[in-house]
Amino acid sequence: MKIRNHKLVGDDNRNVPFVKATTTGGALTGGKPRFLVIHYTAGASAAGAISWFSRKPKANTSAHLVIDHDGEITQMLPFDTVGWHAGESRWKNVKGLNSHSVGIEIANFGVLNQNANGDWVSWTGRSVPSSRVVLAEHKHSPGVTRGWEMFDESQFMATVAAAQAIVEEYDIQPWDVVGHDDISPIRKVDPGPAFRMDDFRALVFGRSEDEWDDILFKVRSDSGLNMRRTPDLVHAPLKNLADGTVVHVIGRSGVWWLVAEVLNGQDDVTGYVHSHWLQPV
Ligand SMILES: [Zn+2]
Repeated sequence: MKIRNHKLVGDDNRNVPFVKATTTGGALTGGKPRFLVIHYTAGASAAGAISWFSRKPKANTSAHLVIDHDGEITQMLPFDTVGWHAGESRWKNVKGLNSHSVGIEIANFGVLNQNANGDWVSWTGRSVPSSRVVLAEHKHSPGVTRGWEMFDESQFMATVAAAQAIVEEYDIQPWDVVGHDDISPIRKVDPGPAFRMDDFRALVFGRSEDEWDDILFKVRSDSGLNMRRTPDLVHAPLKNLADGTVVHVIGRSGVWWLVAEVLNGQDDVTGYVHSHWLQPV
């Protein structure tokens, strides 16, 4: 896939189907996206989201792409235009990601509930076969296992293909490909643990997990950056990392990243830091 005039073009050299969203917010800041935000629709199929985003009167919500279970992609806004998908949000030093990002909505119910018979149902009451349920903890709620609708392989790979074209066209960096649950961690749980974000980034950027491990960041904070045992403010800091300290990112839990201080080229003390004060080396 590639991008022409801010629209996605398939391998057959034709634009993917375009259905105009009724809610838009003018041009993106700087005329191009800096971030790519992944969501699930919380619905049964792409058709529901497409009709909602294109309805009149407008729904006050929209996204650039909607991807169905079979991998069919529908574009609803050009990539240089603001969509209303992120809401109150923050990533690094940027607040309000709508003005700076492309949003992809993937057809998926998301978190599921179990009824009295033990059957899995969506929030709409639709039953979901257990073969389509992933049992997993959300990074915002460690220790709490819930059921999540599985993403289909064809829609995951279609999302990878679209994302590859977007990050290449707009020079978006791996750490700026995020979930809605990364940028609005208090309010949002999508795309959730059934969407394998690390695999997704590795496929989009063509890196193996090992190469991804080699990405280093540097502390940028005059007062240093506190490293903590858990991804929150509950415990006293383990250590204060001085401005300029180089760290190796091991994992992410929303805005809190698990990092190791790099000393003499080796991983040393490990803990969580707030990613806001980290900058790529
Ligand atoms: Zn979302």
